[in-house]
Amino acid sequence: MNNDQSKKSLHPPIVVVMGHVDHGKTALLDYIRKTNVVSKESGGITQHIGAYQIEHSGKLITFIDTPGHEAFSAIRARGATAADIAILVVAADEGVKQQTKEALKHILLSGIPYIVALNKMDKQSAKPDETKKQLADEKIYIEEYGGKIPLIPISAKTGDGVEQLLEMVLLVTELENLEAHPDEPAQGVIIESFMDQRRGSTGTFLIRDGTLKIGDALTFGGITARVKVIESPSGDRITEAGPSTPVILFGLPEVPAVGDVFFSGKTNEEAKDRAHAAQGPDSQSKRFQEGITKRIKKELPEGIKEVILLLKADVQGSLEALNTSIKKLKIPGISLKIIQSSSGPITESDIQSAESSNAIIISFRSIVSSQMRSRLARSGVVLLESDIIYELIEKIEQTFSSYATGLPEKKKEGAIQILAIFHGKKGMPVVGGIVQKGTVRAGMKVTIRRNDSDIASGVIEELQQQKNQVKSVPEGKECGMKIVTQGNVAIGDILIFPVSS
Ligand code: GDP
Repeated sequence: MNNDQSKKSLHPPIVVVMGHVDHGKTALLDYIRKTNVVSKESGGITQHIGAYQIEHSGKLITFIDTPGHEAFSAIRARGATAADIAILVVAADEGVKQQTKEALKHILLSGIPYIVALNKMDKQSAKPDETKKQLADEKIYIEEYGGKIPLIPISAKTGDGVEQLLEMVLLVTELENLEAHPDEPAQGVIIESFMDQRRGSTGTFLIRDGTLKIGDALTFGGITARVKVIESPSGDRITEAGPSTPVILFGLPEVPAVGDVFFSGKTNEEAKDRAHAAQGPDSQSKRFQEGITKRIKKELPEGIKEVILLLKADVQGSLEALNTSIKKLKIPGISLKIIQSSSGPITESDIQSAESSNAIIISFRSIVSSQMRSRLARSGVVLLESDIIYELIEKIEQTFSSYATGLPEKKKEGAIQILAIFHGKKGMPVVGGIVQKGTVRAGMKVTIRRNDSDIASGVIEELQQQKNQVKSVPEGKECGMKIVTQGNVAIGDILIFPVSS
């Protein structure tokens, strides 16, 4: 476990192993586990819980050992990433296969760095050069060929090359600068779950950041629970677990779903609020609302509010589509200003830009790593995202239209309908009408409205009710008026007057 108690530290990398069936993922994970797993004092048999931690060259590495990419995909589908680094296992005798390509797609979608492990090098039938060419066909440009992707030839059977592979994992980790915040509550993903006859609903909780402690409130998949017991992979009861640690929790109110994201907090409310903040736009959390309010307080003339946007999309084409759609978007009372747009995953510098310019990040298919999500949650920078353009535009519209309260409020109007003209005298006609709305007072300014157009203005010089001069006439009553105006008044016209309340 990471015992670093400083506010910020680096966390051990979480590594996922992917590749075609039978290419040696399990063999590799088993070899690494057998040869490196941190031996525990209790001497208990290490359980298969979907992840394990090893120590290599004095550094910790967490491996997700759920074979296949189902769990990985399930996690990604929920908008999180379970791993920091991927190892793409390709058997040198078979080369690139269908699932190699699929695995690659998943890795690229998550935006995490990867290393190719060219496996089964001990076999006579191994064709490393041919396999490397096939990799290039998939746009996997390895270092040996002038690209950036490290490739390590290994044998999961003999263990040859596995040391170098682990060294490479640590090297890539160093470049990644995986920041952790052990002093904060925990957040992470559930990578395995089942119903245990004895212990009830059980799950493997992989902590991505923060520290999980006994007594913490926990929320995942819409349910809340209290952390009563934390068990390490070796079956020890522990009181807390830090970043990149997989732990087992049992006796949960429900069997958690693999891929669910969890958040802890001192109270249920804190845990839920953190979950909402990280989930972003759909949430009604106070933090989200505050984030928006804070960012759109800037007023332009006429009460229009300016919203500053920072646009992100996965690729240039999507970015152009997003730009166009946003420029077409009209939200009354809101002026949208794009200050920056770029393609690729959301980065630290995007968040910094958003922070310094008080911008809201709009993401169309951009990858947001869980690291960046927690960074967003901490910074209070608001992110609106979707993989579907119209959904995203709708979200933007919904989010901001409710804040267009600064619009010059439509003044409440009183109205009198003209029913009779007694004297059509130019300059001061004497008319009769009914007060349709509001209470009219002598001396009020009026606007003469005909067929919905304002045609002239005037002042009520004298107001009468049943031939008696009065100061005011309430709604629903008939009245007589002398109006001073340059315009003329006709039957059917409406006299509009201001209503004070
Ligand atoms: P997975 O489906 O990717 O998890 O593949 P496995 O780890 O189950 O391996 C499939 C088969 O290949 C098993 O029979 C392994 O013993 C064998 N195998 C895996 N790695 C190696 C290797 O490096 N060399 C040789 N000779 N066999 C291997």
